[in-house]
Amino acid sequence: MEANWTCPFCALLCDSFALEGGPEALALNGSTCPRARAGLAAHARPEAPVAFIDGVAVEPAQAIAEAARRLARWRQPLFGGLGIDMAGARALFKLAARTGAICDHADGEPLAQGLRALQDRGQFHTTLAEIGARADVVVCVGTQATARYPEFFRRCGLDRADGPCTRLVFLGAEPPEDVPGALAPVRIAGSGDLFADLQQLAALLGPAPCHESDPELAGLARMLGEARYAVLVWEPAMLRRHGALAAEMLLRIVMALNRGTRAASFALGGSDGAATVQQVFTWLSGLPLRTRFGRAGFEHEPVRFAGEALLADRAVDGLLWTWSFAPGRLPPATDLSRVVLGPPAMGSRLREGRVANQCVFVPVATPGVNAAGHLFRGDGVVVPLVAVRDDGVPALDRVVAELLVGLEEPE
Ligand code: SF4
Repeated sequence: MEANWTCPFCALLCDSFALEGGPEALALNGSTCPRARAGLAAHARPEAPVAFIDGVAVEPAQAIAEAARRLARWRQPLFGGLGIDMAGARALFKLAARTGAICDHADGEPLAQGLRALQDRGQFHTTLAEIGARADVVVCVGTQATARYPEFFRRCGLDRADGPCTRLVFLGAEPPEDVPGALAPVRIAGSGDLFADLQQLAALLGPAPCHESDPELAGLARMLGEARYAVLVWEPAMLRRHGALAAEMLLRIVMALNRGTRAASFALGGSDGAATVQQVFTWLSGLPLRTRFGRAGFEHEPVRFAGEALLADRAVDGLLWTWSFAPGRLPPATDLSRVVLGPPAMGSRLREGRVANQCVFVPVATPGVNAAGHLFRGDGVVVPLVAVRDDGVPALDRVVAELLVGLEEPE
């Protein structure tokens, strides 16, 4: 059906698989990726787009007008979810600037942890293509990699017999069973404290001799020092709270290695529009998410402006939840007034779960399924998405643009 389909369901944005079947039965060909299959199953059949106000079905234009009225009344809105593409992010930025909103992604915590490590330490980052072309040692730190990014090893070419990679190591994580190709993964159990293990590894790679070191970590330090190009793969969502310290240590190891050889890090994250909205907001304002667009200018508070905390503390009085991807990613439970822009099936779930009160819902399309769009891949490459069918549902940026117009109209 669609030969050049790009999968939108994680930040790897795989573009070498095809879709089979008609518009009512989207089936993946070329991969058994469970994440993609689940994503396609959630959008398998077009669902009638129903807008509603407090559970009562209305025309989309009515719902948008009411959403604009409620937005105008909120003194401190939170824009959460942010599972959106580039055009959606650009449109939402304008709305946030107009309403003084604070913006945070649904996966804002790992996003903030990765960013903090980058701000504090800087990084040598690599791309999927460069791993496939140059990396001879790949170390997955605290992550199985394929548990949440099922095609990662294939995307890096680790299944190729003629690829450069000869060693695949897992530090502080069990190797998955489905490592492709002929590579025999090596497991280093470590102490169970990833930060302590990384600290020891950093010391082993430092100038001073390190006494009483873990023999496996000492062996890993030698392997890294002898590698032509080592890549340390990590996953911010797998780090515990305050995992930025571990991330910082990992980036420090990469820097130490670059004094004598070549090494880089690769962060698995940024799915569901997280990398996209972070990039777009940063290039438009100079500041990342967890920023308030207030009258006094932009305020960036990476801890205080965490979406969950703002809701728990009732530091905001309204929630605009925007989510174009999995319809099951509902807004967090709150008794605050909500405006929700989501796939049609999200509206059904809100009504079935009887959480549609105090809620205006407007259906929007999903990039890569029933809308075209662009997303940032986890390694920073912008990837176009094609629509595989037209369900007559508007793209999110169009709805946001109408909300902006509605805000300018007198009550
Ligand atoms: S790994 Fe991610 S992008 Fe690739 S097919 Fe699976 S869900 Fe889609």
